[in-house]
Amino acid sequence: MKVILAQPRGFCAGVVRAIDIVERSLARRDGPVYVRHEIVHNRHVVEDLKAKGAHFVEDLAEIPDGAVTIFSAHGVSHGIEDDAKSRRLRVVDATCPLVSKVHKQGQRYSSLGRTVILIGHAGHPEIEGTLGRISGPVYLVENREDVANLDLPDETPVAYITQTTLSVDDTRSTIEAVKSRFTDVIGPETRDICYATQNRQTAVRDLCQSAEVLLVVGASNSSNSNRLREIGAECGIPSYLVADGSEVDPAWLAGMNVVGVTAGASAPDVLVEDVLATIGRISPIEIEILDGVEEKITFRLPPELLEAS
Ligand code: SF4
Repeated sequence: MKVILAQPRGFCAGVVRAIDIVERSLARRDGPVYVRHEIVHNRHVVEDLKAKGAHFVEDLAEIPDGAVTIFSAHGVSHGIEDDAKSRRLRVVDATCPLVSKVHKQGQRYSSLGRTVILIGHAGHPEIEGTLGRISGPVYLVENREDVANLDLPDETPVAYITQTTLSVDDTRSTIEAVKSRFTDVIGPETRDICYATQNRQTAVRDLCQSAEVLLVVGASNSSNSNRLREIGAECGIPSYLVADGSEVDPAWLAGMNVVGVTAGASAPDVLVEDVLATIGRISPIEIEILDGVEEKITFRLPPELLEAS
């Protein structure tokens, strides 16, 4: 069986930075290290950091006053930040710089007196954080229908921003709906969807030209991994999201000659290797890597960690 790997796949610069922040904070041995929410949406990554000593919590109330506290790559609201300040928590912020950019953009539009339309998925931690960063009116929409249902006069001056890990195509369509409904609209095209999300989605479309079935390695709560699986399905091939090799069902591969494999931005290589090993136990495999963008982006660490290194 031939296995084609998408290029690029797996870790993005924001995820590498976030994991590095936790590891360096642990290495400083400056008391216990608490992380609010999964640092990135991958259980394997979280378990690995737990084994190295990190404590994961959902609520700041679970963190002792003054302790080292890391905010996850998804970002947090001003409310959480203020709460951390009042508890004198020693915060190290692992929010991806591309998420921070959206926060700043949203607040800037709001300061201009515009009503902000945030395109994203309700309940996702990135969205919770972004909603809590904008002081003026902000409305969350997921799709064209939500835009049509917004209870706002059509002449309201609006600006839109987007979650970083959406489907590029769906978002373009939602932006078009905003532009055609409102008379005074500004916003950044689809540029807020981060480079890593865009590159992985393009690579999956290429992969689906040759693959008969698609396996996406990633967690079920990972937004960008779910979008990759959806793209496979839109391209018309059976597409499955698997956390690791144990979730691959041999029945999916029966009669298939070409299997496409990719990984979401928070899925480590070791899990891709695990999936390849599982496929290899079902049938001998020959691996090919698709030509694709080579990503060279890296993000700077927070200054306090750079000083310590
Ligand atoms: S997917 Fe994009 S926005 Fe999210 S952490 Fe990675 S680089 Fe940052």
